[in-house]
Amino acid sequence: MQPLFDKLIGCKASDFFQQLKNALITEQRMFIVTANPETFKTASQDDDFYHLLVAEETTMVPDGIGIVKAAKMLGFDIEERIPGVDIATQLLQHAQELEKSVYLFGAKPEVIEKMKRLMQERYPQAKLVGTCDGYVKDKDEVFETIAQLKPDVVLVALGIPAQENLIYRHLQSFSKGIIVGVGGSFDVISGTKKRAPKFFIKLNLEWLYRILKEPSRWKRFFKNNWGFILEVRNMKKRG
Ligand code: UDP
Repeated sequence: MQPLFDKLIGCKASDFFQQLKNALITEQRMFIVTANPETFKTASQDDDFYHLLVAEETTMVPDGIGIVKAAKMLGFDIEERIPGVDIATQLLQHAQELEKSVYLFGAKPEVIEKMKRLMQERYPQAKLVGTCDGYVKDKDEVFETIAQLKPDVVLVALGIPAQENLIYRHLQSFSKGIIVGVGGSFDVISGTKKRAPKFFIKLNLEWLYRILKEPSRWKRFFKNNWGFILEVRNMKKRG
């Protein structure tokens, strides 16, 4: 797991958001993975996914507190969480200010409809060049269309690892654009699901709030976090 921790961006979230703005202005291509223990656990069981994460063109940020705590425990210089949902909102805000183009892909049809309305109301200067819900059959075909549109921002909300695998398969077709796998962010941004109250976020308990709201997440949480904690403890012991 060492190379995965090495890949993590360690700066403050606000500095990272500024870097995103600069990347948009200079029309760079960026592929961002927002990592949590599930990301690292998946990588330990799937070689292709591991290679995607450590690839030179991949930018990986610590989304979850589990990753931040583990990184700090192991002596990595990681400042704080950079949550995927905040990256998504910041990019939409930057697109609004810079009048950049945006494509939104993923989530349920009713959620993507709400996102469309929200874009008109909250980010009218951003150019929404297309949307597609995440339950279409041929997602590669959708990505081919997205690449042709050359958007400045592409948010992909399909869940891990599907969103990362799909983006990586098509990355070379993009000459510019910030492309991010944002998990359940559209559900939250559209107001379909509530984000944890500030109190939970401040205490780094957003994960607990999500589980309390959706008890079905327990199994997934336990499965991914338990193995991760054991692995980190072993790494710490090995020094
Ligand atoms: N999703 C999708 N197509 C699928 C499976 C999932 O668009 O075939 C969407 C789902 O509607 C949700 C997101 O992917 O909006 C995954 O959300 P989840 O909360 O599981 O992601 P997390 O933030 O926990 O990574």
